[in-house]
Amino acid sequence: MLAMEGVCWLCQQELKVPRQGICSFCTKNLPPMPRVCPQCALTSEYIDASCGRCLLQPPPWQKLITVSPYRAPLRQLIHQYKFHRQPQLAVALTRLFLIHWLNGYRQQKWKKPDRLITIPPHPRRCWRRGFDHMALMGSNLATWLNIAYSQNSLRRSRDTLAQVSLTRKQRRNNLKKAFALETSVSGLHIAIIDDVITTGATMHAAAQLLICAGAHTVDAWSLCRTL
Ligand SMILES: [Zn+2]
Ligand SMILES: [Zn+2]
Repeated sequence: MLAMEGVCWLCQQELKVPRQGICSFCTKNLPPMPRVCPQCALTSEYIDASCGRCLLQPPPWQKLITVSPYRAPLRQLIHQYKFHRQPQLAVALTRLFLIHWLNGYRQQKWKKPDRLITIPPHPRRCWRRGFDHMALMGSNLATWLNIAYSQNSLRRSRDTLAQVSLTRKQRRNNLKKAFALETSVSGLHIAIIDDVITTGATMHAAAQLLICAGAHTVDAWSLCRTL
């Protein structure tokens, strides 16, 4: 996947607006989420109602808003963005989320939050990668939505192990007290954005912390969801 000036990242056709990075055809043709629970974004037979899992054990967030399942082509693009240092993809990826979010907003599926917070990278991995990939997306998105954003609202309180190799239970334990909150969220509606939500353990730890600190509502946002 090569970065070429002025052409779509996915189909290599010339772009009318080069900065957009992904053409409108490819944007419209991204695999949509199937029928999912609005709270955990996992497949569910109910429409617009929480699934049995969420009714039994509600997550600390109210809605999980995600653009597409974690597979081609976004999977490769996110990989390219994070691991191959392509910060110019930030605008393209953020725009995909924005379009999806605005669609639901117009249909009154969700409300605009007071503040946006991003999941901070591991210090060591951020250093290796050379940039905080979520902060780039978060600051773009907050500007476009005209909401507050601060890069350092959440801080990693210790360098947790890489989540990939752990079981679900180990992930939860690994993430207990993984974050510290550096800002007041009392009474606010907060959105936390991450690139991909897999088990939800990282988002769970962050959202739980905000709720305990008095946030009124937390929404979880992501580009992709592992189904
Ligand atoms: Zn395209
Ligand atoms: Zn659910």
